[in-house]
Amino acid sequence: MTYDLVVIGSGPGGYVCAIRAAQLGLRTAVVEKDATFGGTCLNVGCIPSKALLHASHMFEEAGHGLAPLGVVVDPPRLDLSAMMKHKADTVGANVNGVAFLFKKNKIDSYRGVGRLKGACEGNIEVEVVGADGATQTLQTKNVVIASGSAVAPLRDASGAEIAIDEKLVLSSTGALALEKIPERLVIVGAGVIGLELGSVWRRLGAKVTAIEYLDRVLPGFDLEIATRFQKILEKQGIVFHLGSKVTGVARTGAGQETRAIVSYSSVDGAVSDTIEADAVLIATGRIPYTLGLGLEEAGVAQERGRIVIDDHFATNIPGVYAIGDVVRGPMLAHKAEDEGIAVAEILAGQAGHVNYGVIPSVVYTMPEVAAVGLSEEEAKAKGIAIAVGRFPFSANGRARAMRATDGFVKIIANAATDRVVGVHILGAGAGELIAEAAVLMEFSGSAEDLARTCHAHPTLSEAVREAALAVAKRAIHI
Ligand code: FAD
Repeated sequence: MTYDLVVIGSGPGGYVCAIRAAQLGLRTAVVEKDATFGGTCLNVGCIPSKALLHASHMFEEAGHGLAPLGVVVDPPRLDLSAMMKHKADTVGANVNGVAFLFKKNKIDSYRGVGRLKGACEGNIEVEVVGADGATQTLQTKNVVIASGSAVAPLRDASGAEIAIDEKLVLSSTGALALEKIPERLVIVGAGVIGLELGSVWRRLGAKVTAIEYLDRVLPGFDLEIATRFQKILEKQGIVFHLGSKVTGVARTGAGQETRAIVSYSSVDGAVSDTIEADAVLIATGRIPYTLGLGLEEAGVAQERGRIVIDDHFATNIPGVYAIGDVVRGPMLAHKAEDEGIAVAEILAGQAGHVNYGVIPSVVYTMPEVAAVGLSEEEAKAKGIAIAVGRFPFSANGRARAMRATDGFVKIIANAATDRVVGVHILGAGAGELIAEAAVLMEFSGSAEDLARTCHAHPTLSEAVREAALAVAKRAIHI
C-alpha cells in the first residue's frame, strides 16, 4: 500500500495529525500497537483521570459540600465499581470516537508495532508487526512519529529501579484502576499527575502523603500560586514532605496484608525516615517512548531520549517527522494535537505553526490551577519589568454564591508595554477561565484590552477582568 503519510501512534498527536492530513487530501494511514486508539491521553491519562476527578469530587460534595447550601443528604456511600464503570464508559466513548473519525475521514489503520524499515527521499518503508507476528510493509512519502511517552522509572539509593507491580507500587495507570481504597497512599512526586490522582483517592478516603524532591509543589508553575495551592491541599488533608527524596520501597507482610515501607531522606541526606503505606504511586515524570521504532537503524537523531526535530517538526531523515511527547516541549495532549495539525498542514504545503509561548497548563484538582505564558519568576529571569494584578475569588459574587472562594487570579503584564506575558489562576473553573487569557495572549493583547472587555455578571470570569484592572491598580471590587 502506498501513502502520502503514515502516522505511527494514535494518541492526541497522531490521531489529530491523521485527521487533518486526510482533510487536506493526503492519503493517510495510522499504525497503533495498542488494542484501542487514543494513546495515553484517552486510555490511561487525561480522560480516565478526569472521569475519576469529577466523580470523586461529587462524592466529596455529597459528603459535606451540599449541607451548607441547604441540600441535606444522607452520608453518601461509595460504589467504587460503579465509579470505575463510569471511567471505563467515558474512555470507551472517546476511543470509539477516534475509530469513527478514522472511518469518516477514510484513514486506514493498522494494528501492530510500526518500525522504520528503510528511508530514502520520497519513499519510506514502515514495517508493521501485529500481535500475532504477522508483518505488513507500508510504502509512504512521509512518516510522522507520534509514539508518546511512558512512566519514568524511579531508582532507589543503590541505583536499582523501584519495581512497579500496579498493585502495591503503582504508576498512574495502576492508580486509575485500584479495586479498593488504600488506607494510606504515598505519592512520590508532587507534580500535576501525583496531585490529581492523590486528590482522587483522598476524596474517597485515603490518607495521602506526598514526597517531593524540590522544596515546592507543582514545579514549573508560578511559585506564589503553587505555594497557596499547597496550603489549600494541606487543609484538605494531604501531608507534604518537600525537599525529600525516596531512597527505597520495601515490602512487608504477605498476600492481602502486603504493605510498602517507603524510605526517604532530606535531599542533603541529613534526616531520614520511613512511612508505611497500602499503596505507593510513582509520579516523578514521564520519558519519551521510542521502543521498537527502529530509530537507530534508520539513523534518526535523538537527544536524551527525545527525537530531535527542527522548527517544522522534521527529523534529520528526509520525510520523517515527529510530534507530541516524544519531542521537546511540555508533555501535554493539546500541545501534541496542535503539533499534529501544524505538521499535517506543512506536509500539505501550508504554513503550519504552533505558538509555544501560549500553551495553557491545567491541574484538575479542586480548586483547579491553570496557567498560560510566563510565571513571575520566568518573567523576572528574562529581565522583563513587570506589573502584576491580582484578584481573589473571595471578592467575586458568583464564587461566593457557589461557596468557591478559594484562590485568586494573577495577571503579569510587561510594565513598559502593558502586553500580558502570563496569566495564572487558582480557583474553581480555572481550566475553563484560562482560555480567554490564551486568546488574549495569542493576539498579543494588553491588560487594558482585557480590562475594557465587558464580562457577564455574575461570572467567575469577572475575577479575570478585575485582575486585569488591578494591573493598573484600578480593580473595582477590592
Ligand atoms: P500518546 O498519547 O502517548 O500516544 C502514543 C501512541 O503511540 C500510543 O497509543 C502508543 O501505543 C503508540 N505507539 C508507540 N510506539 C508505537 C509503535 N512503534 N507502533 C505503533 N504504535 C506505537 N495532558 C493534558 O494535556 N491534560 C491532562 O489532563 C493530562 N492528564 C494526564 C493524566 C495522566 C495520568 C497521564 C499519564 C498523562 C496526562 N496528560 C495530560 C498527558 C497526555 O496524556 C500526553 O501529553 C499525551 O497523551 C501525548 O500525546 P502523544 O500523541 O504524543 O502520545
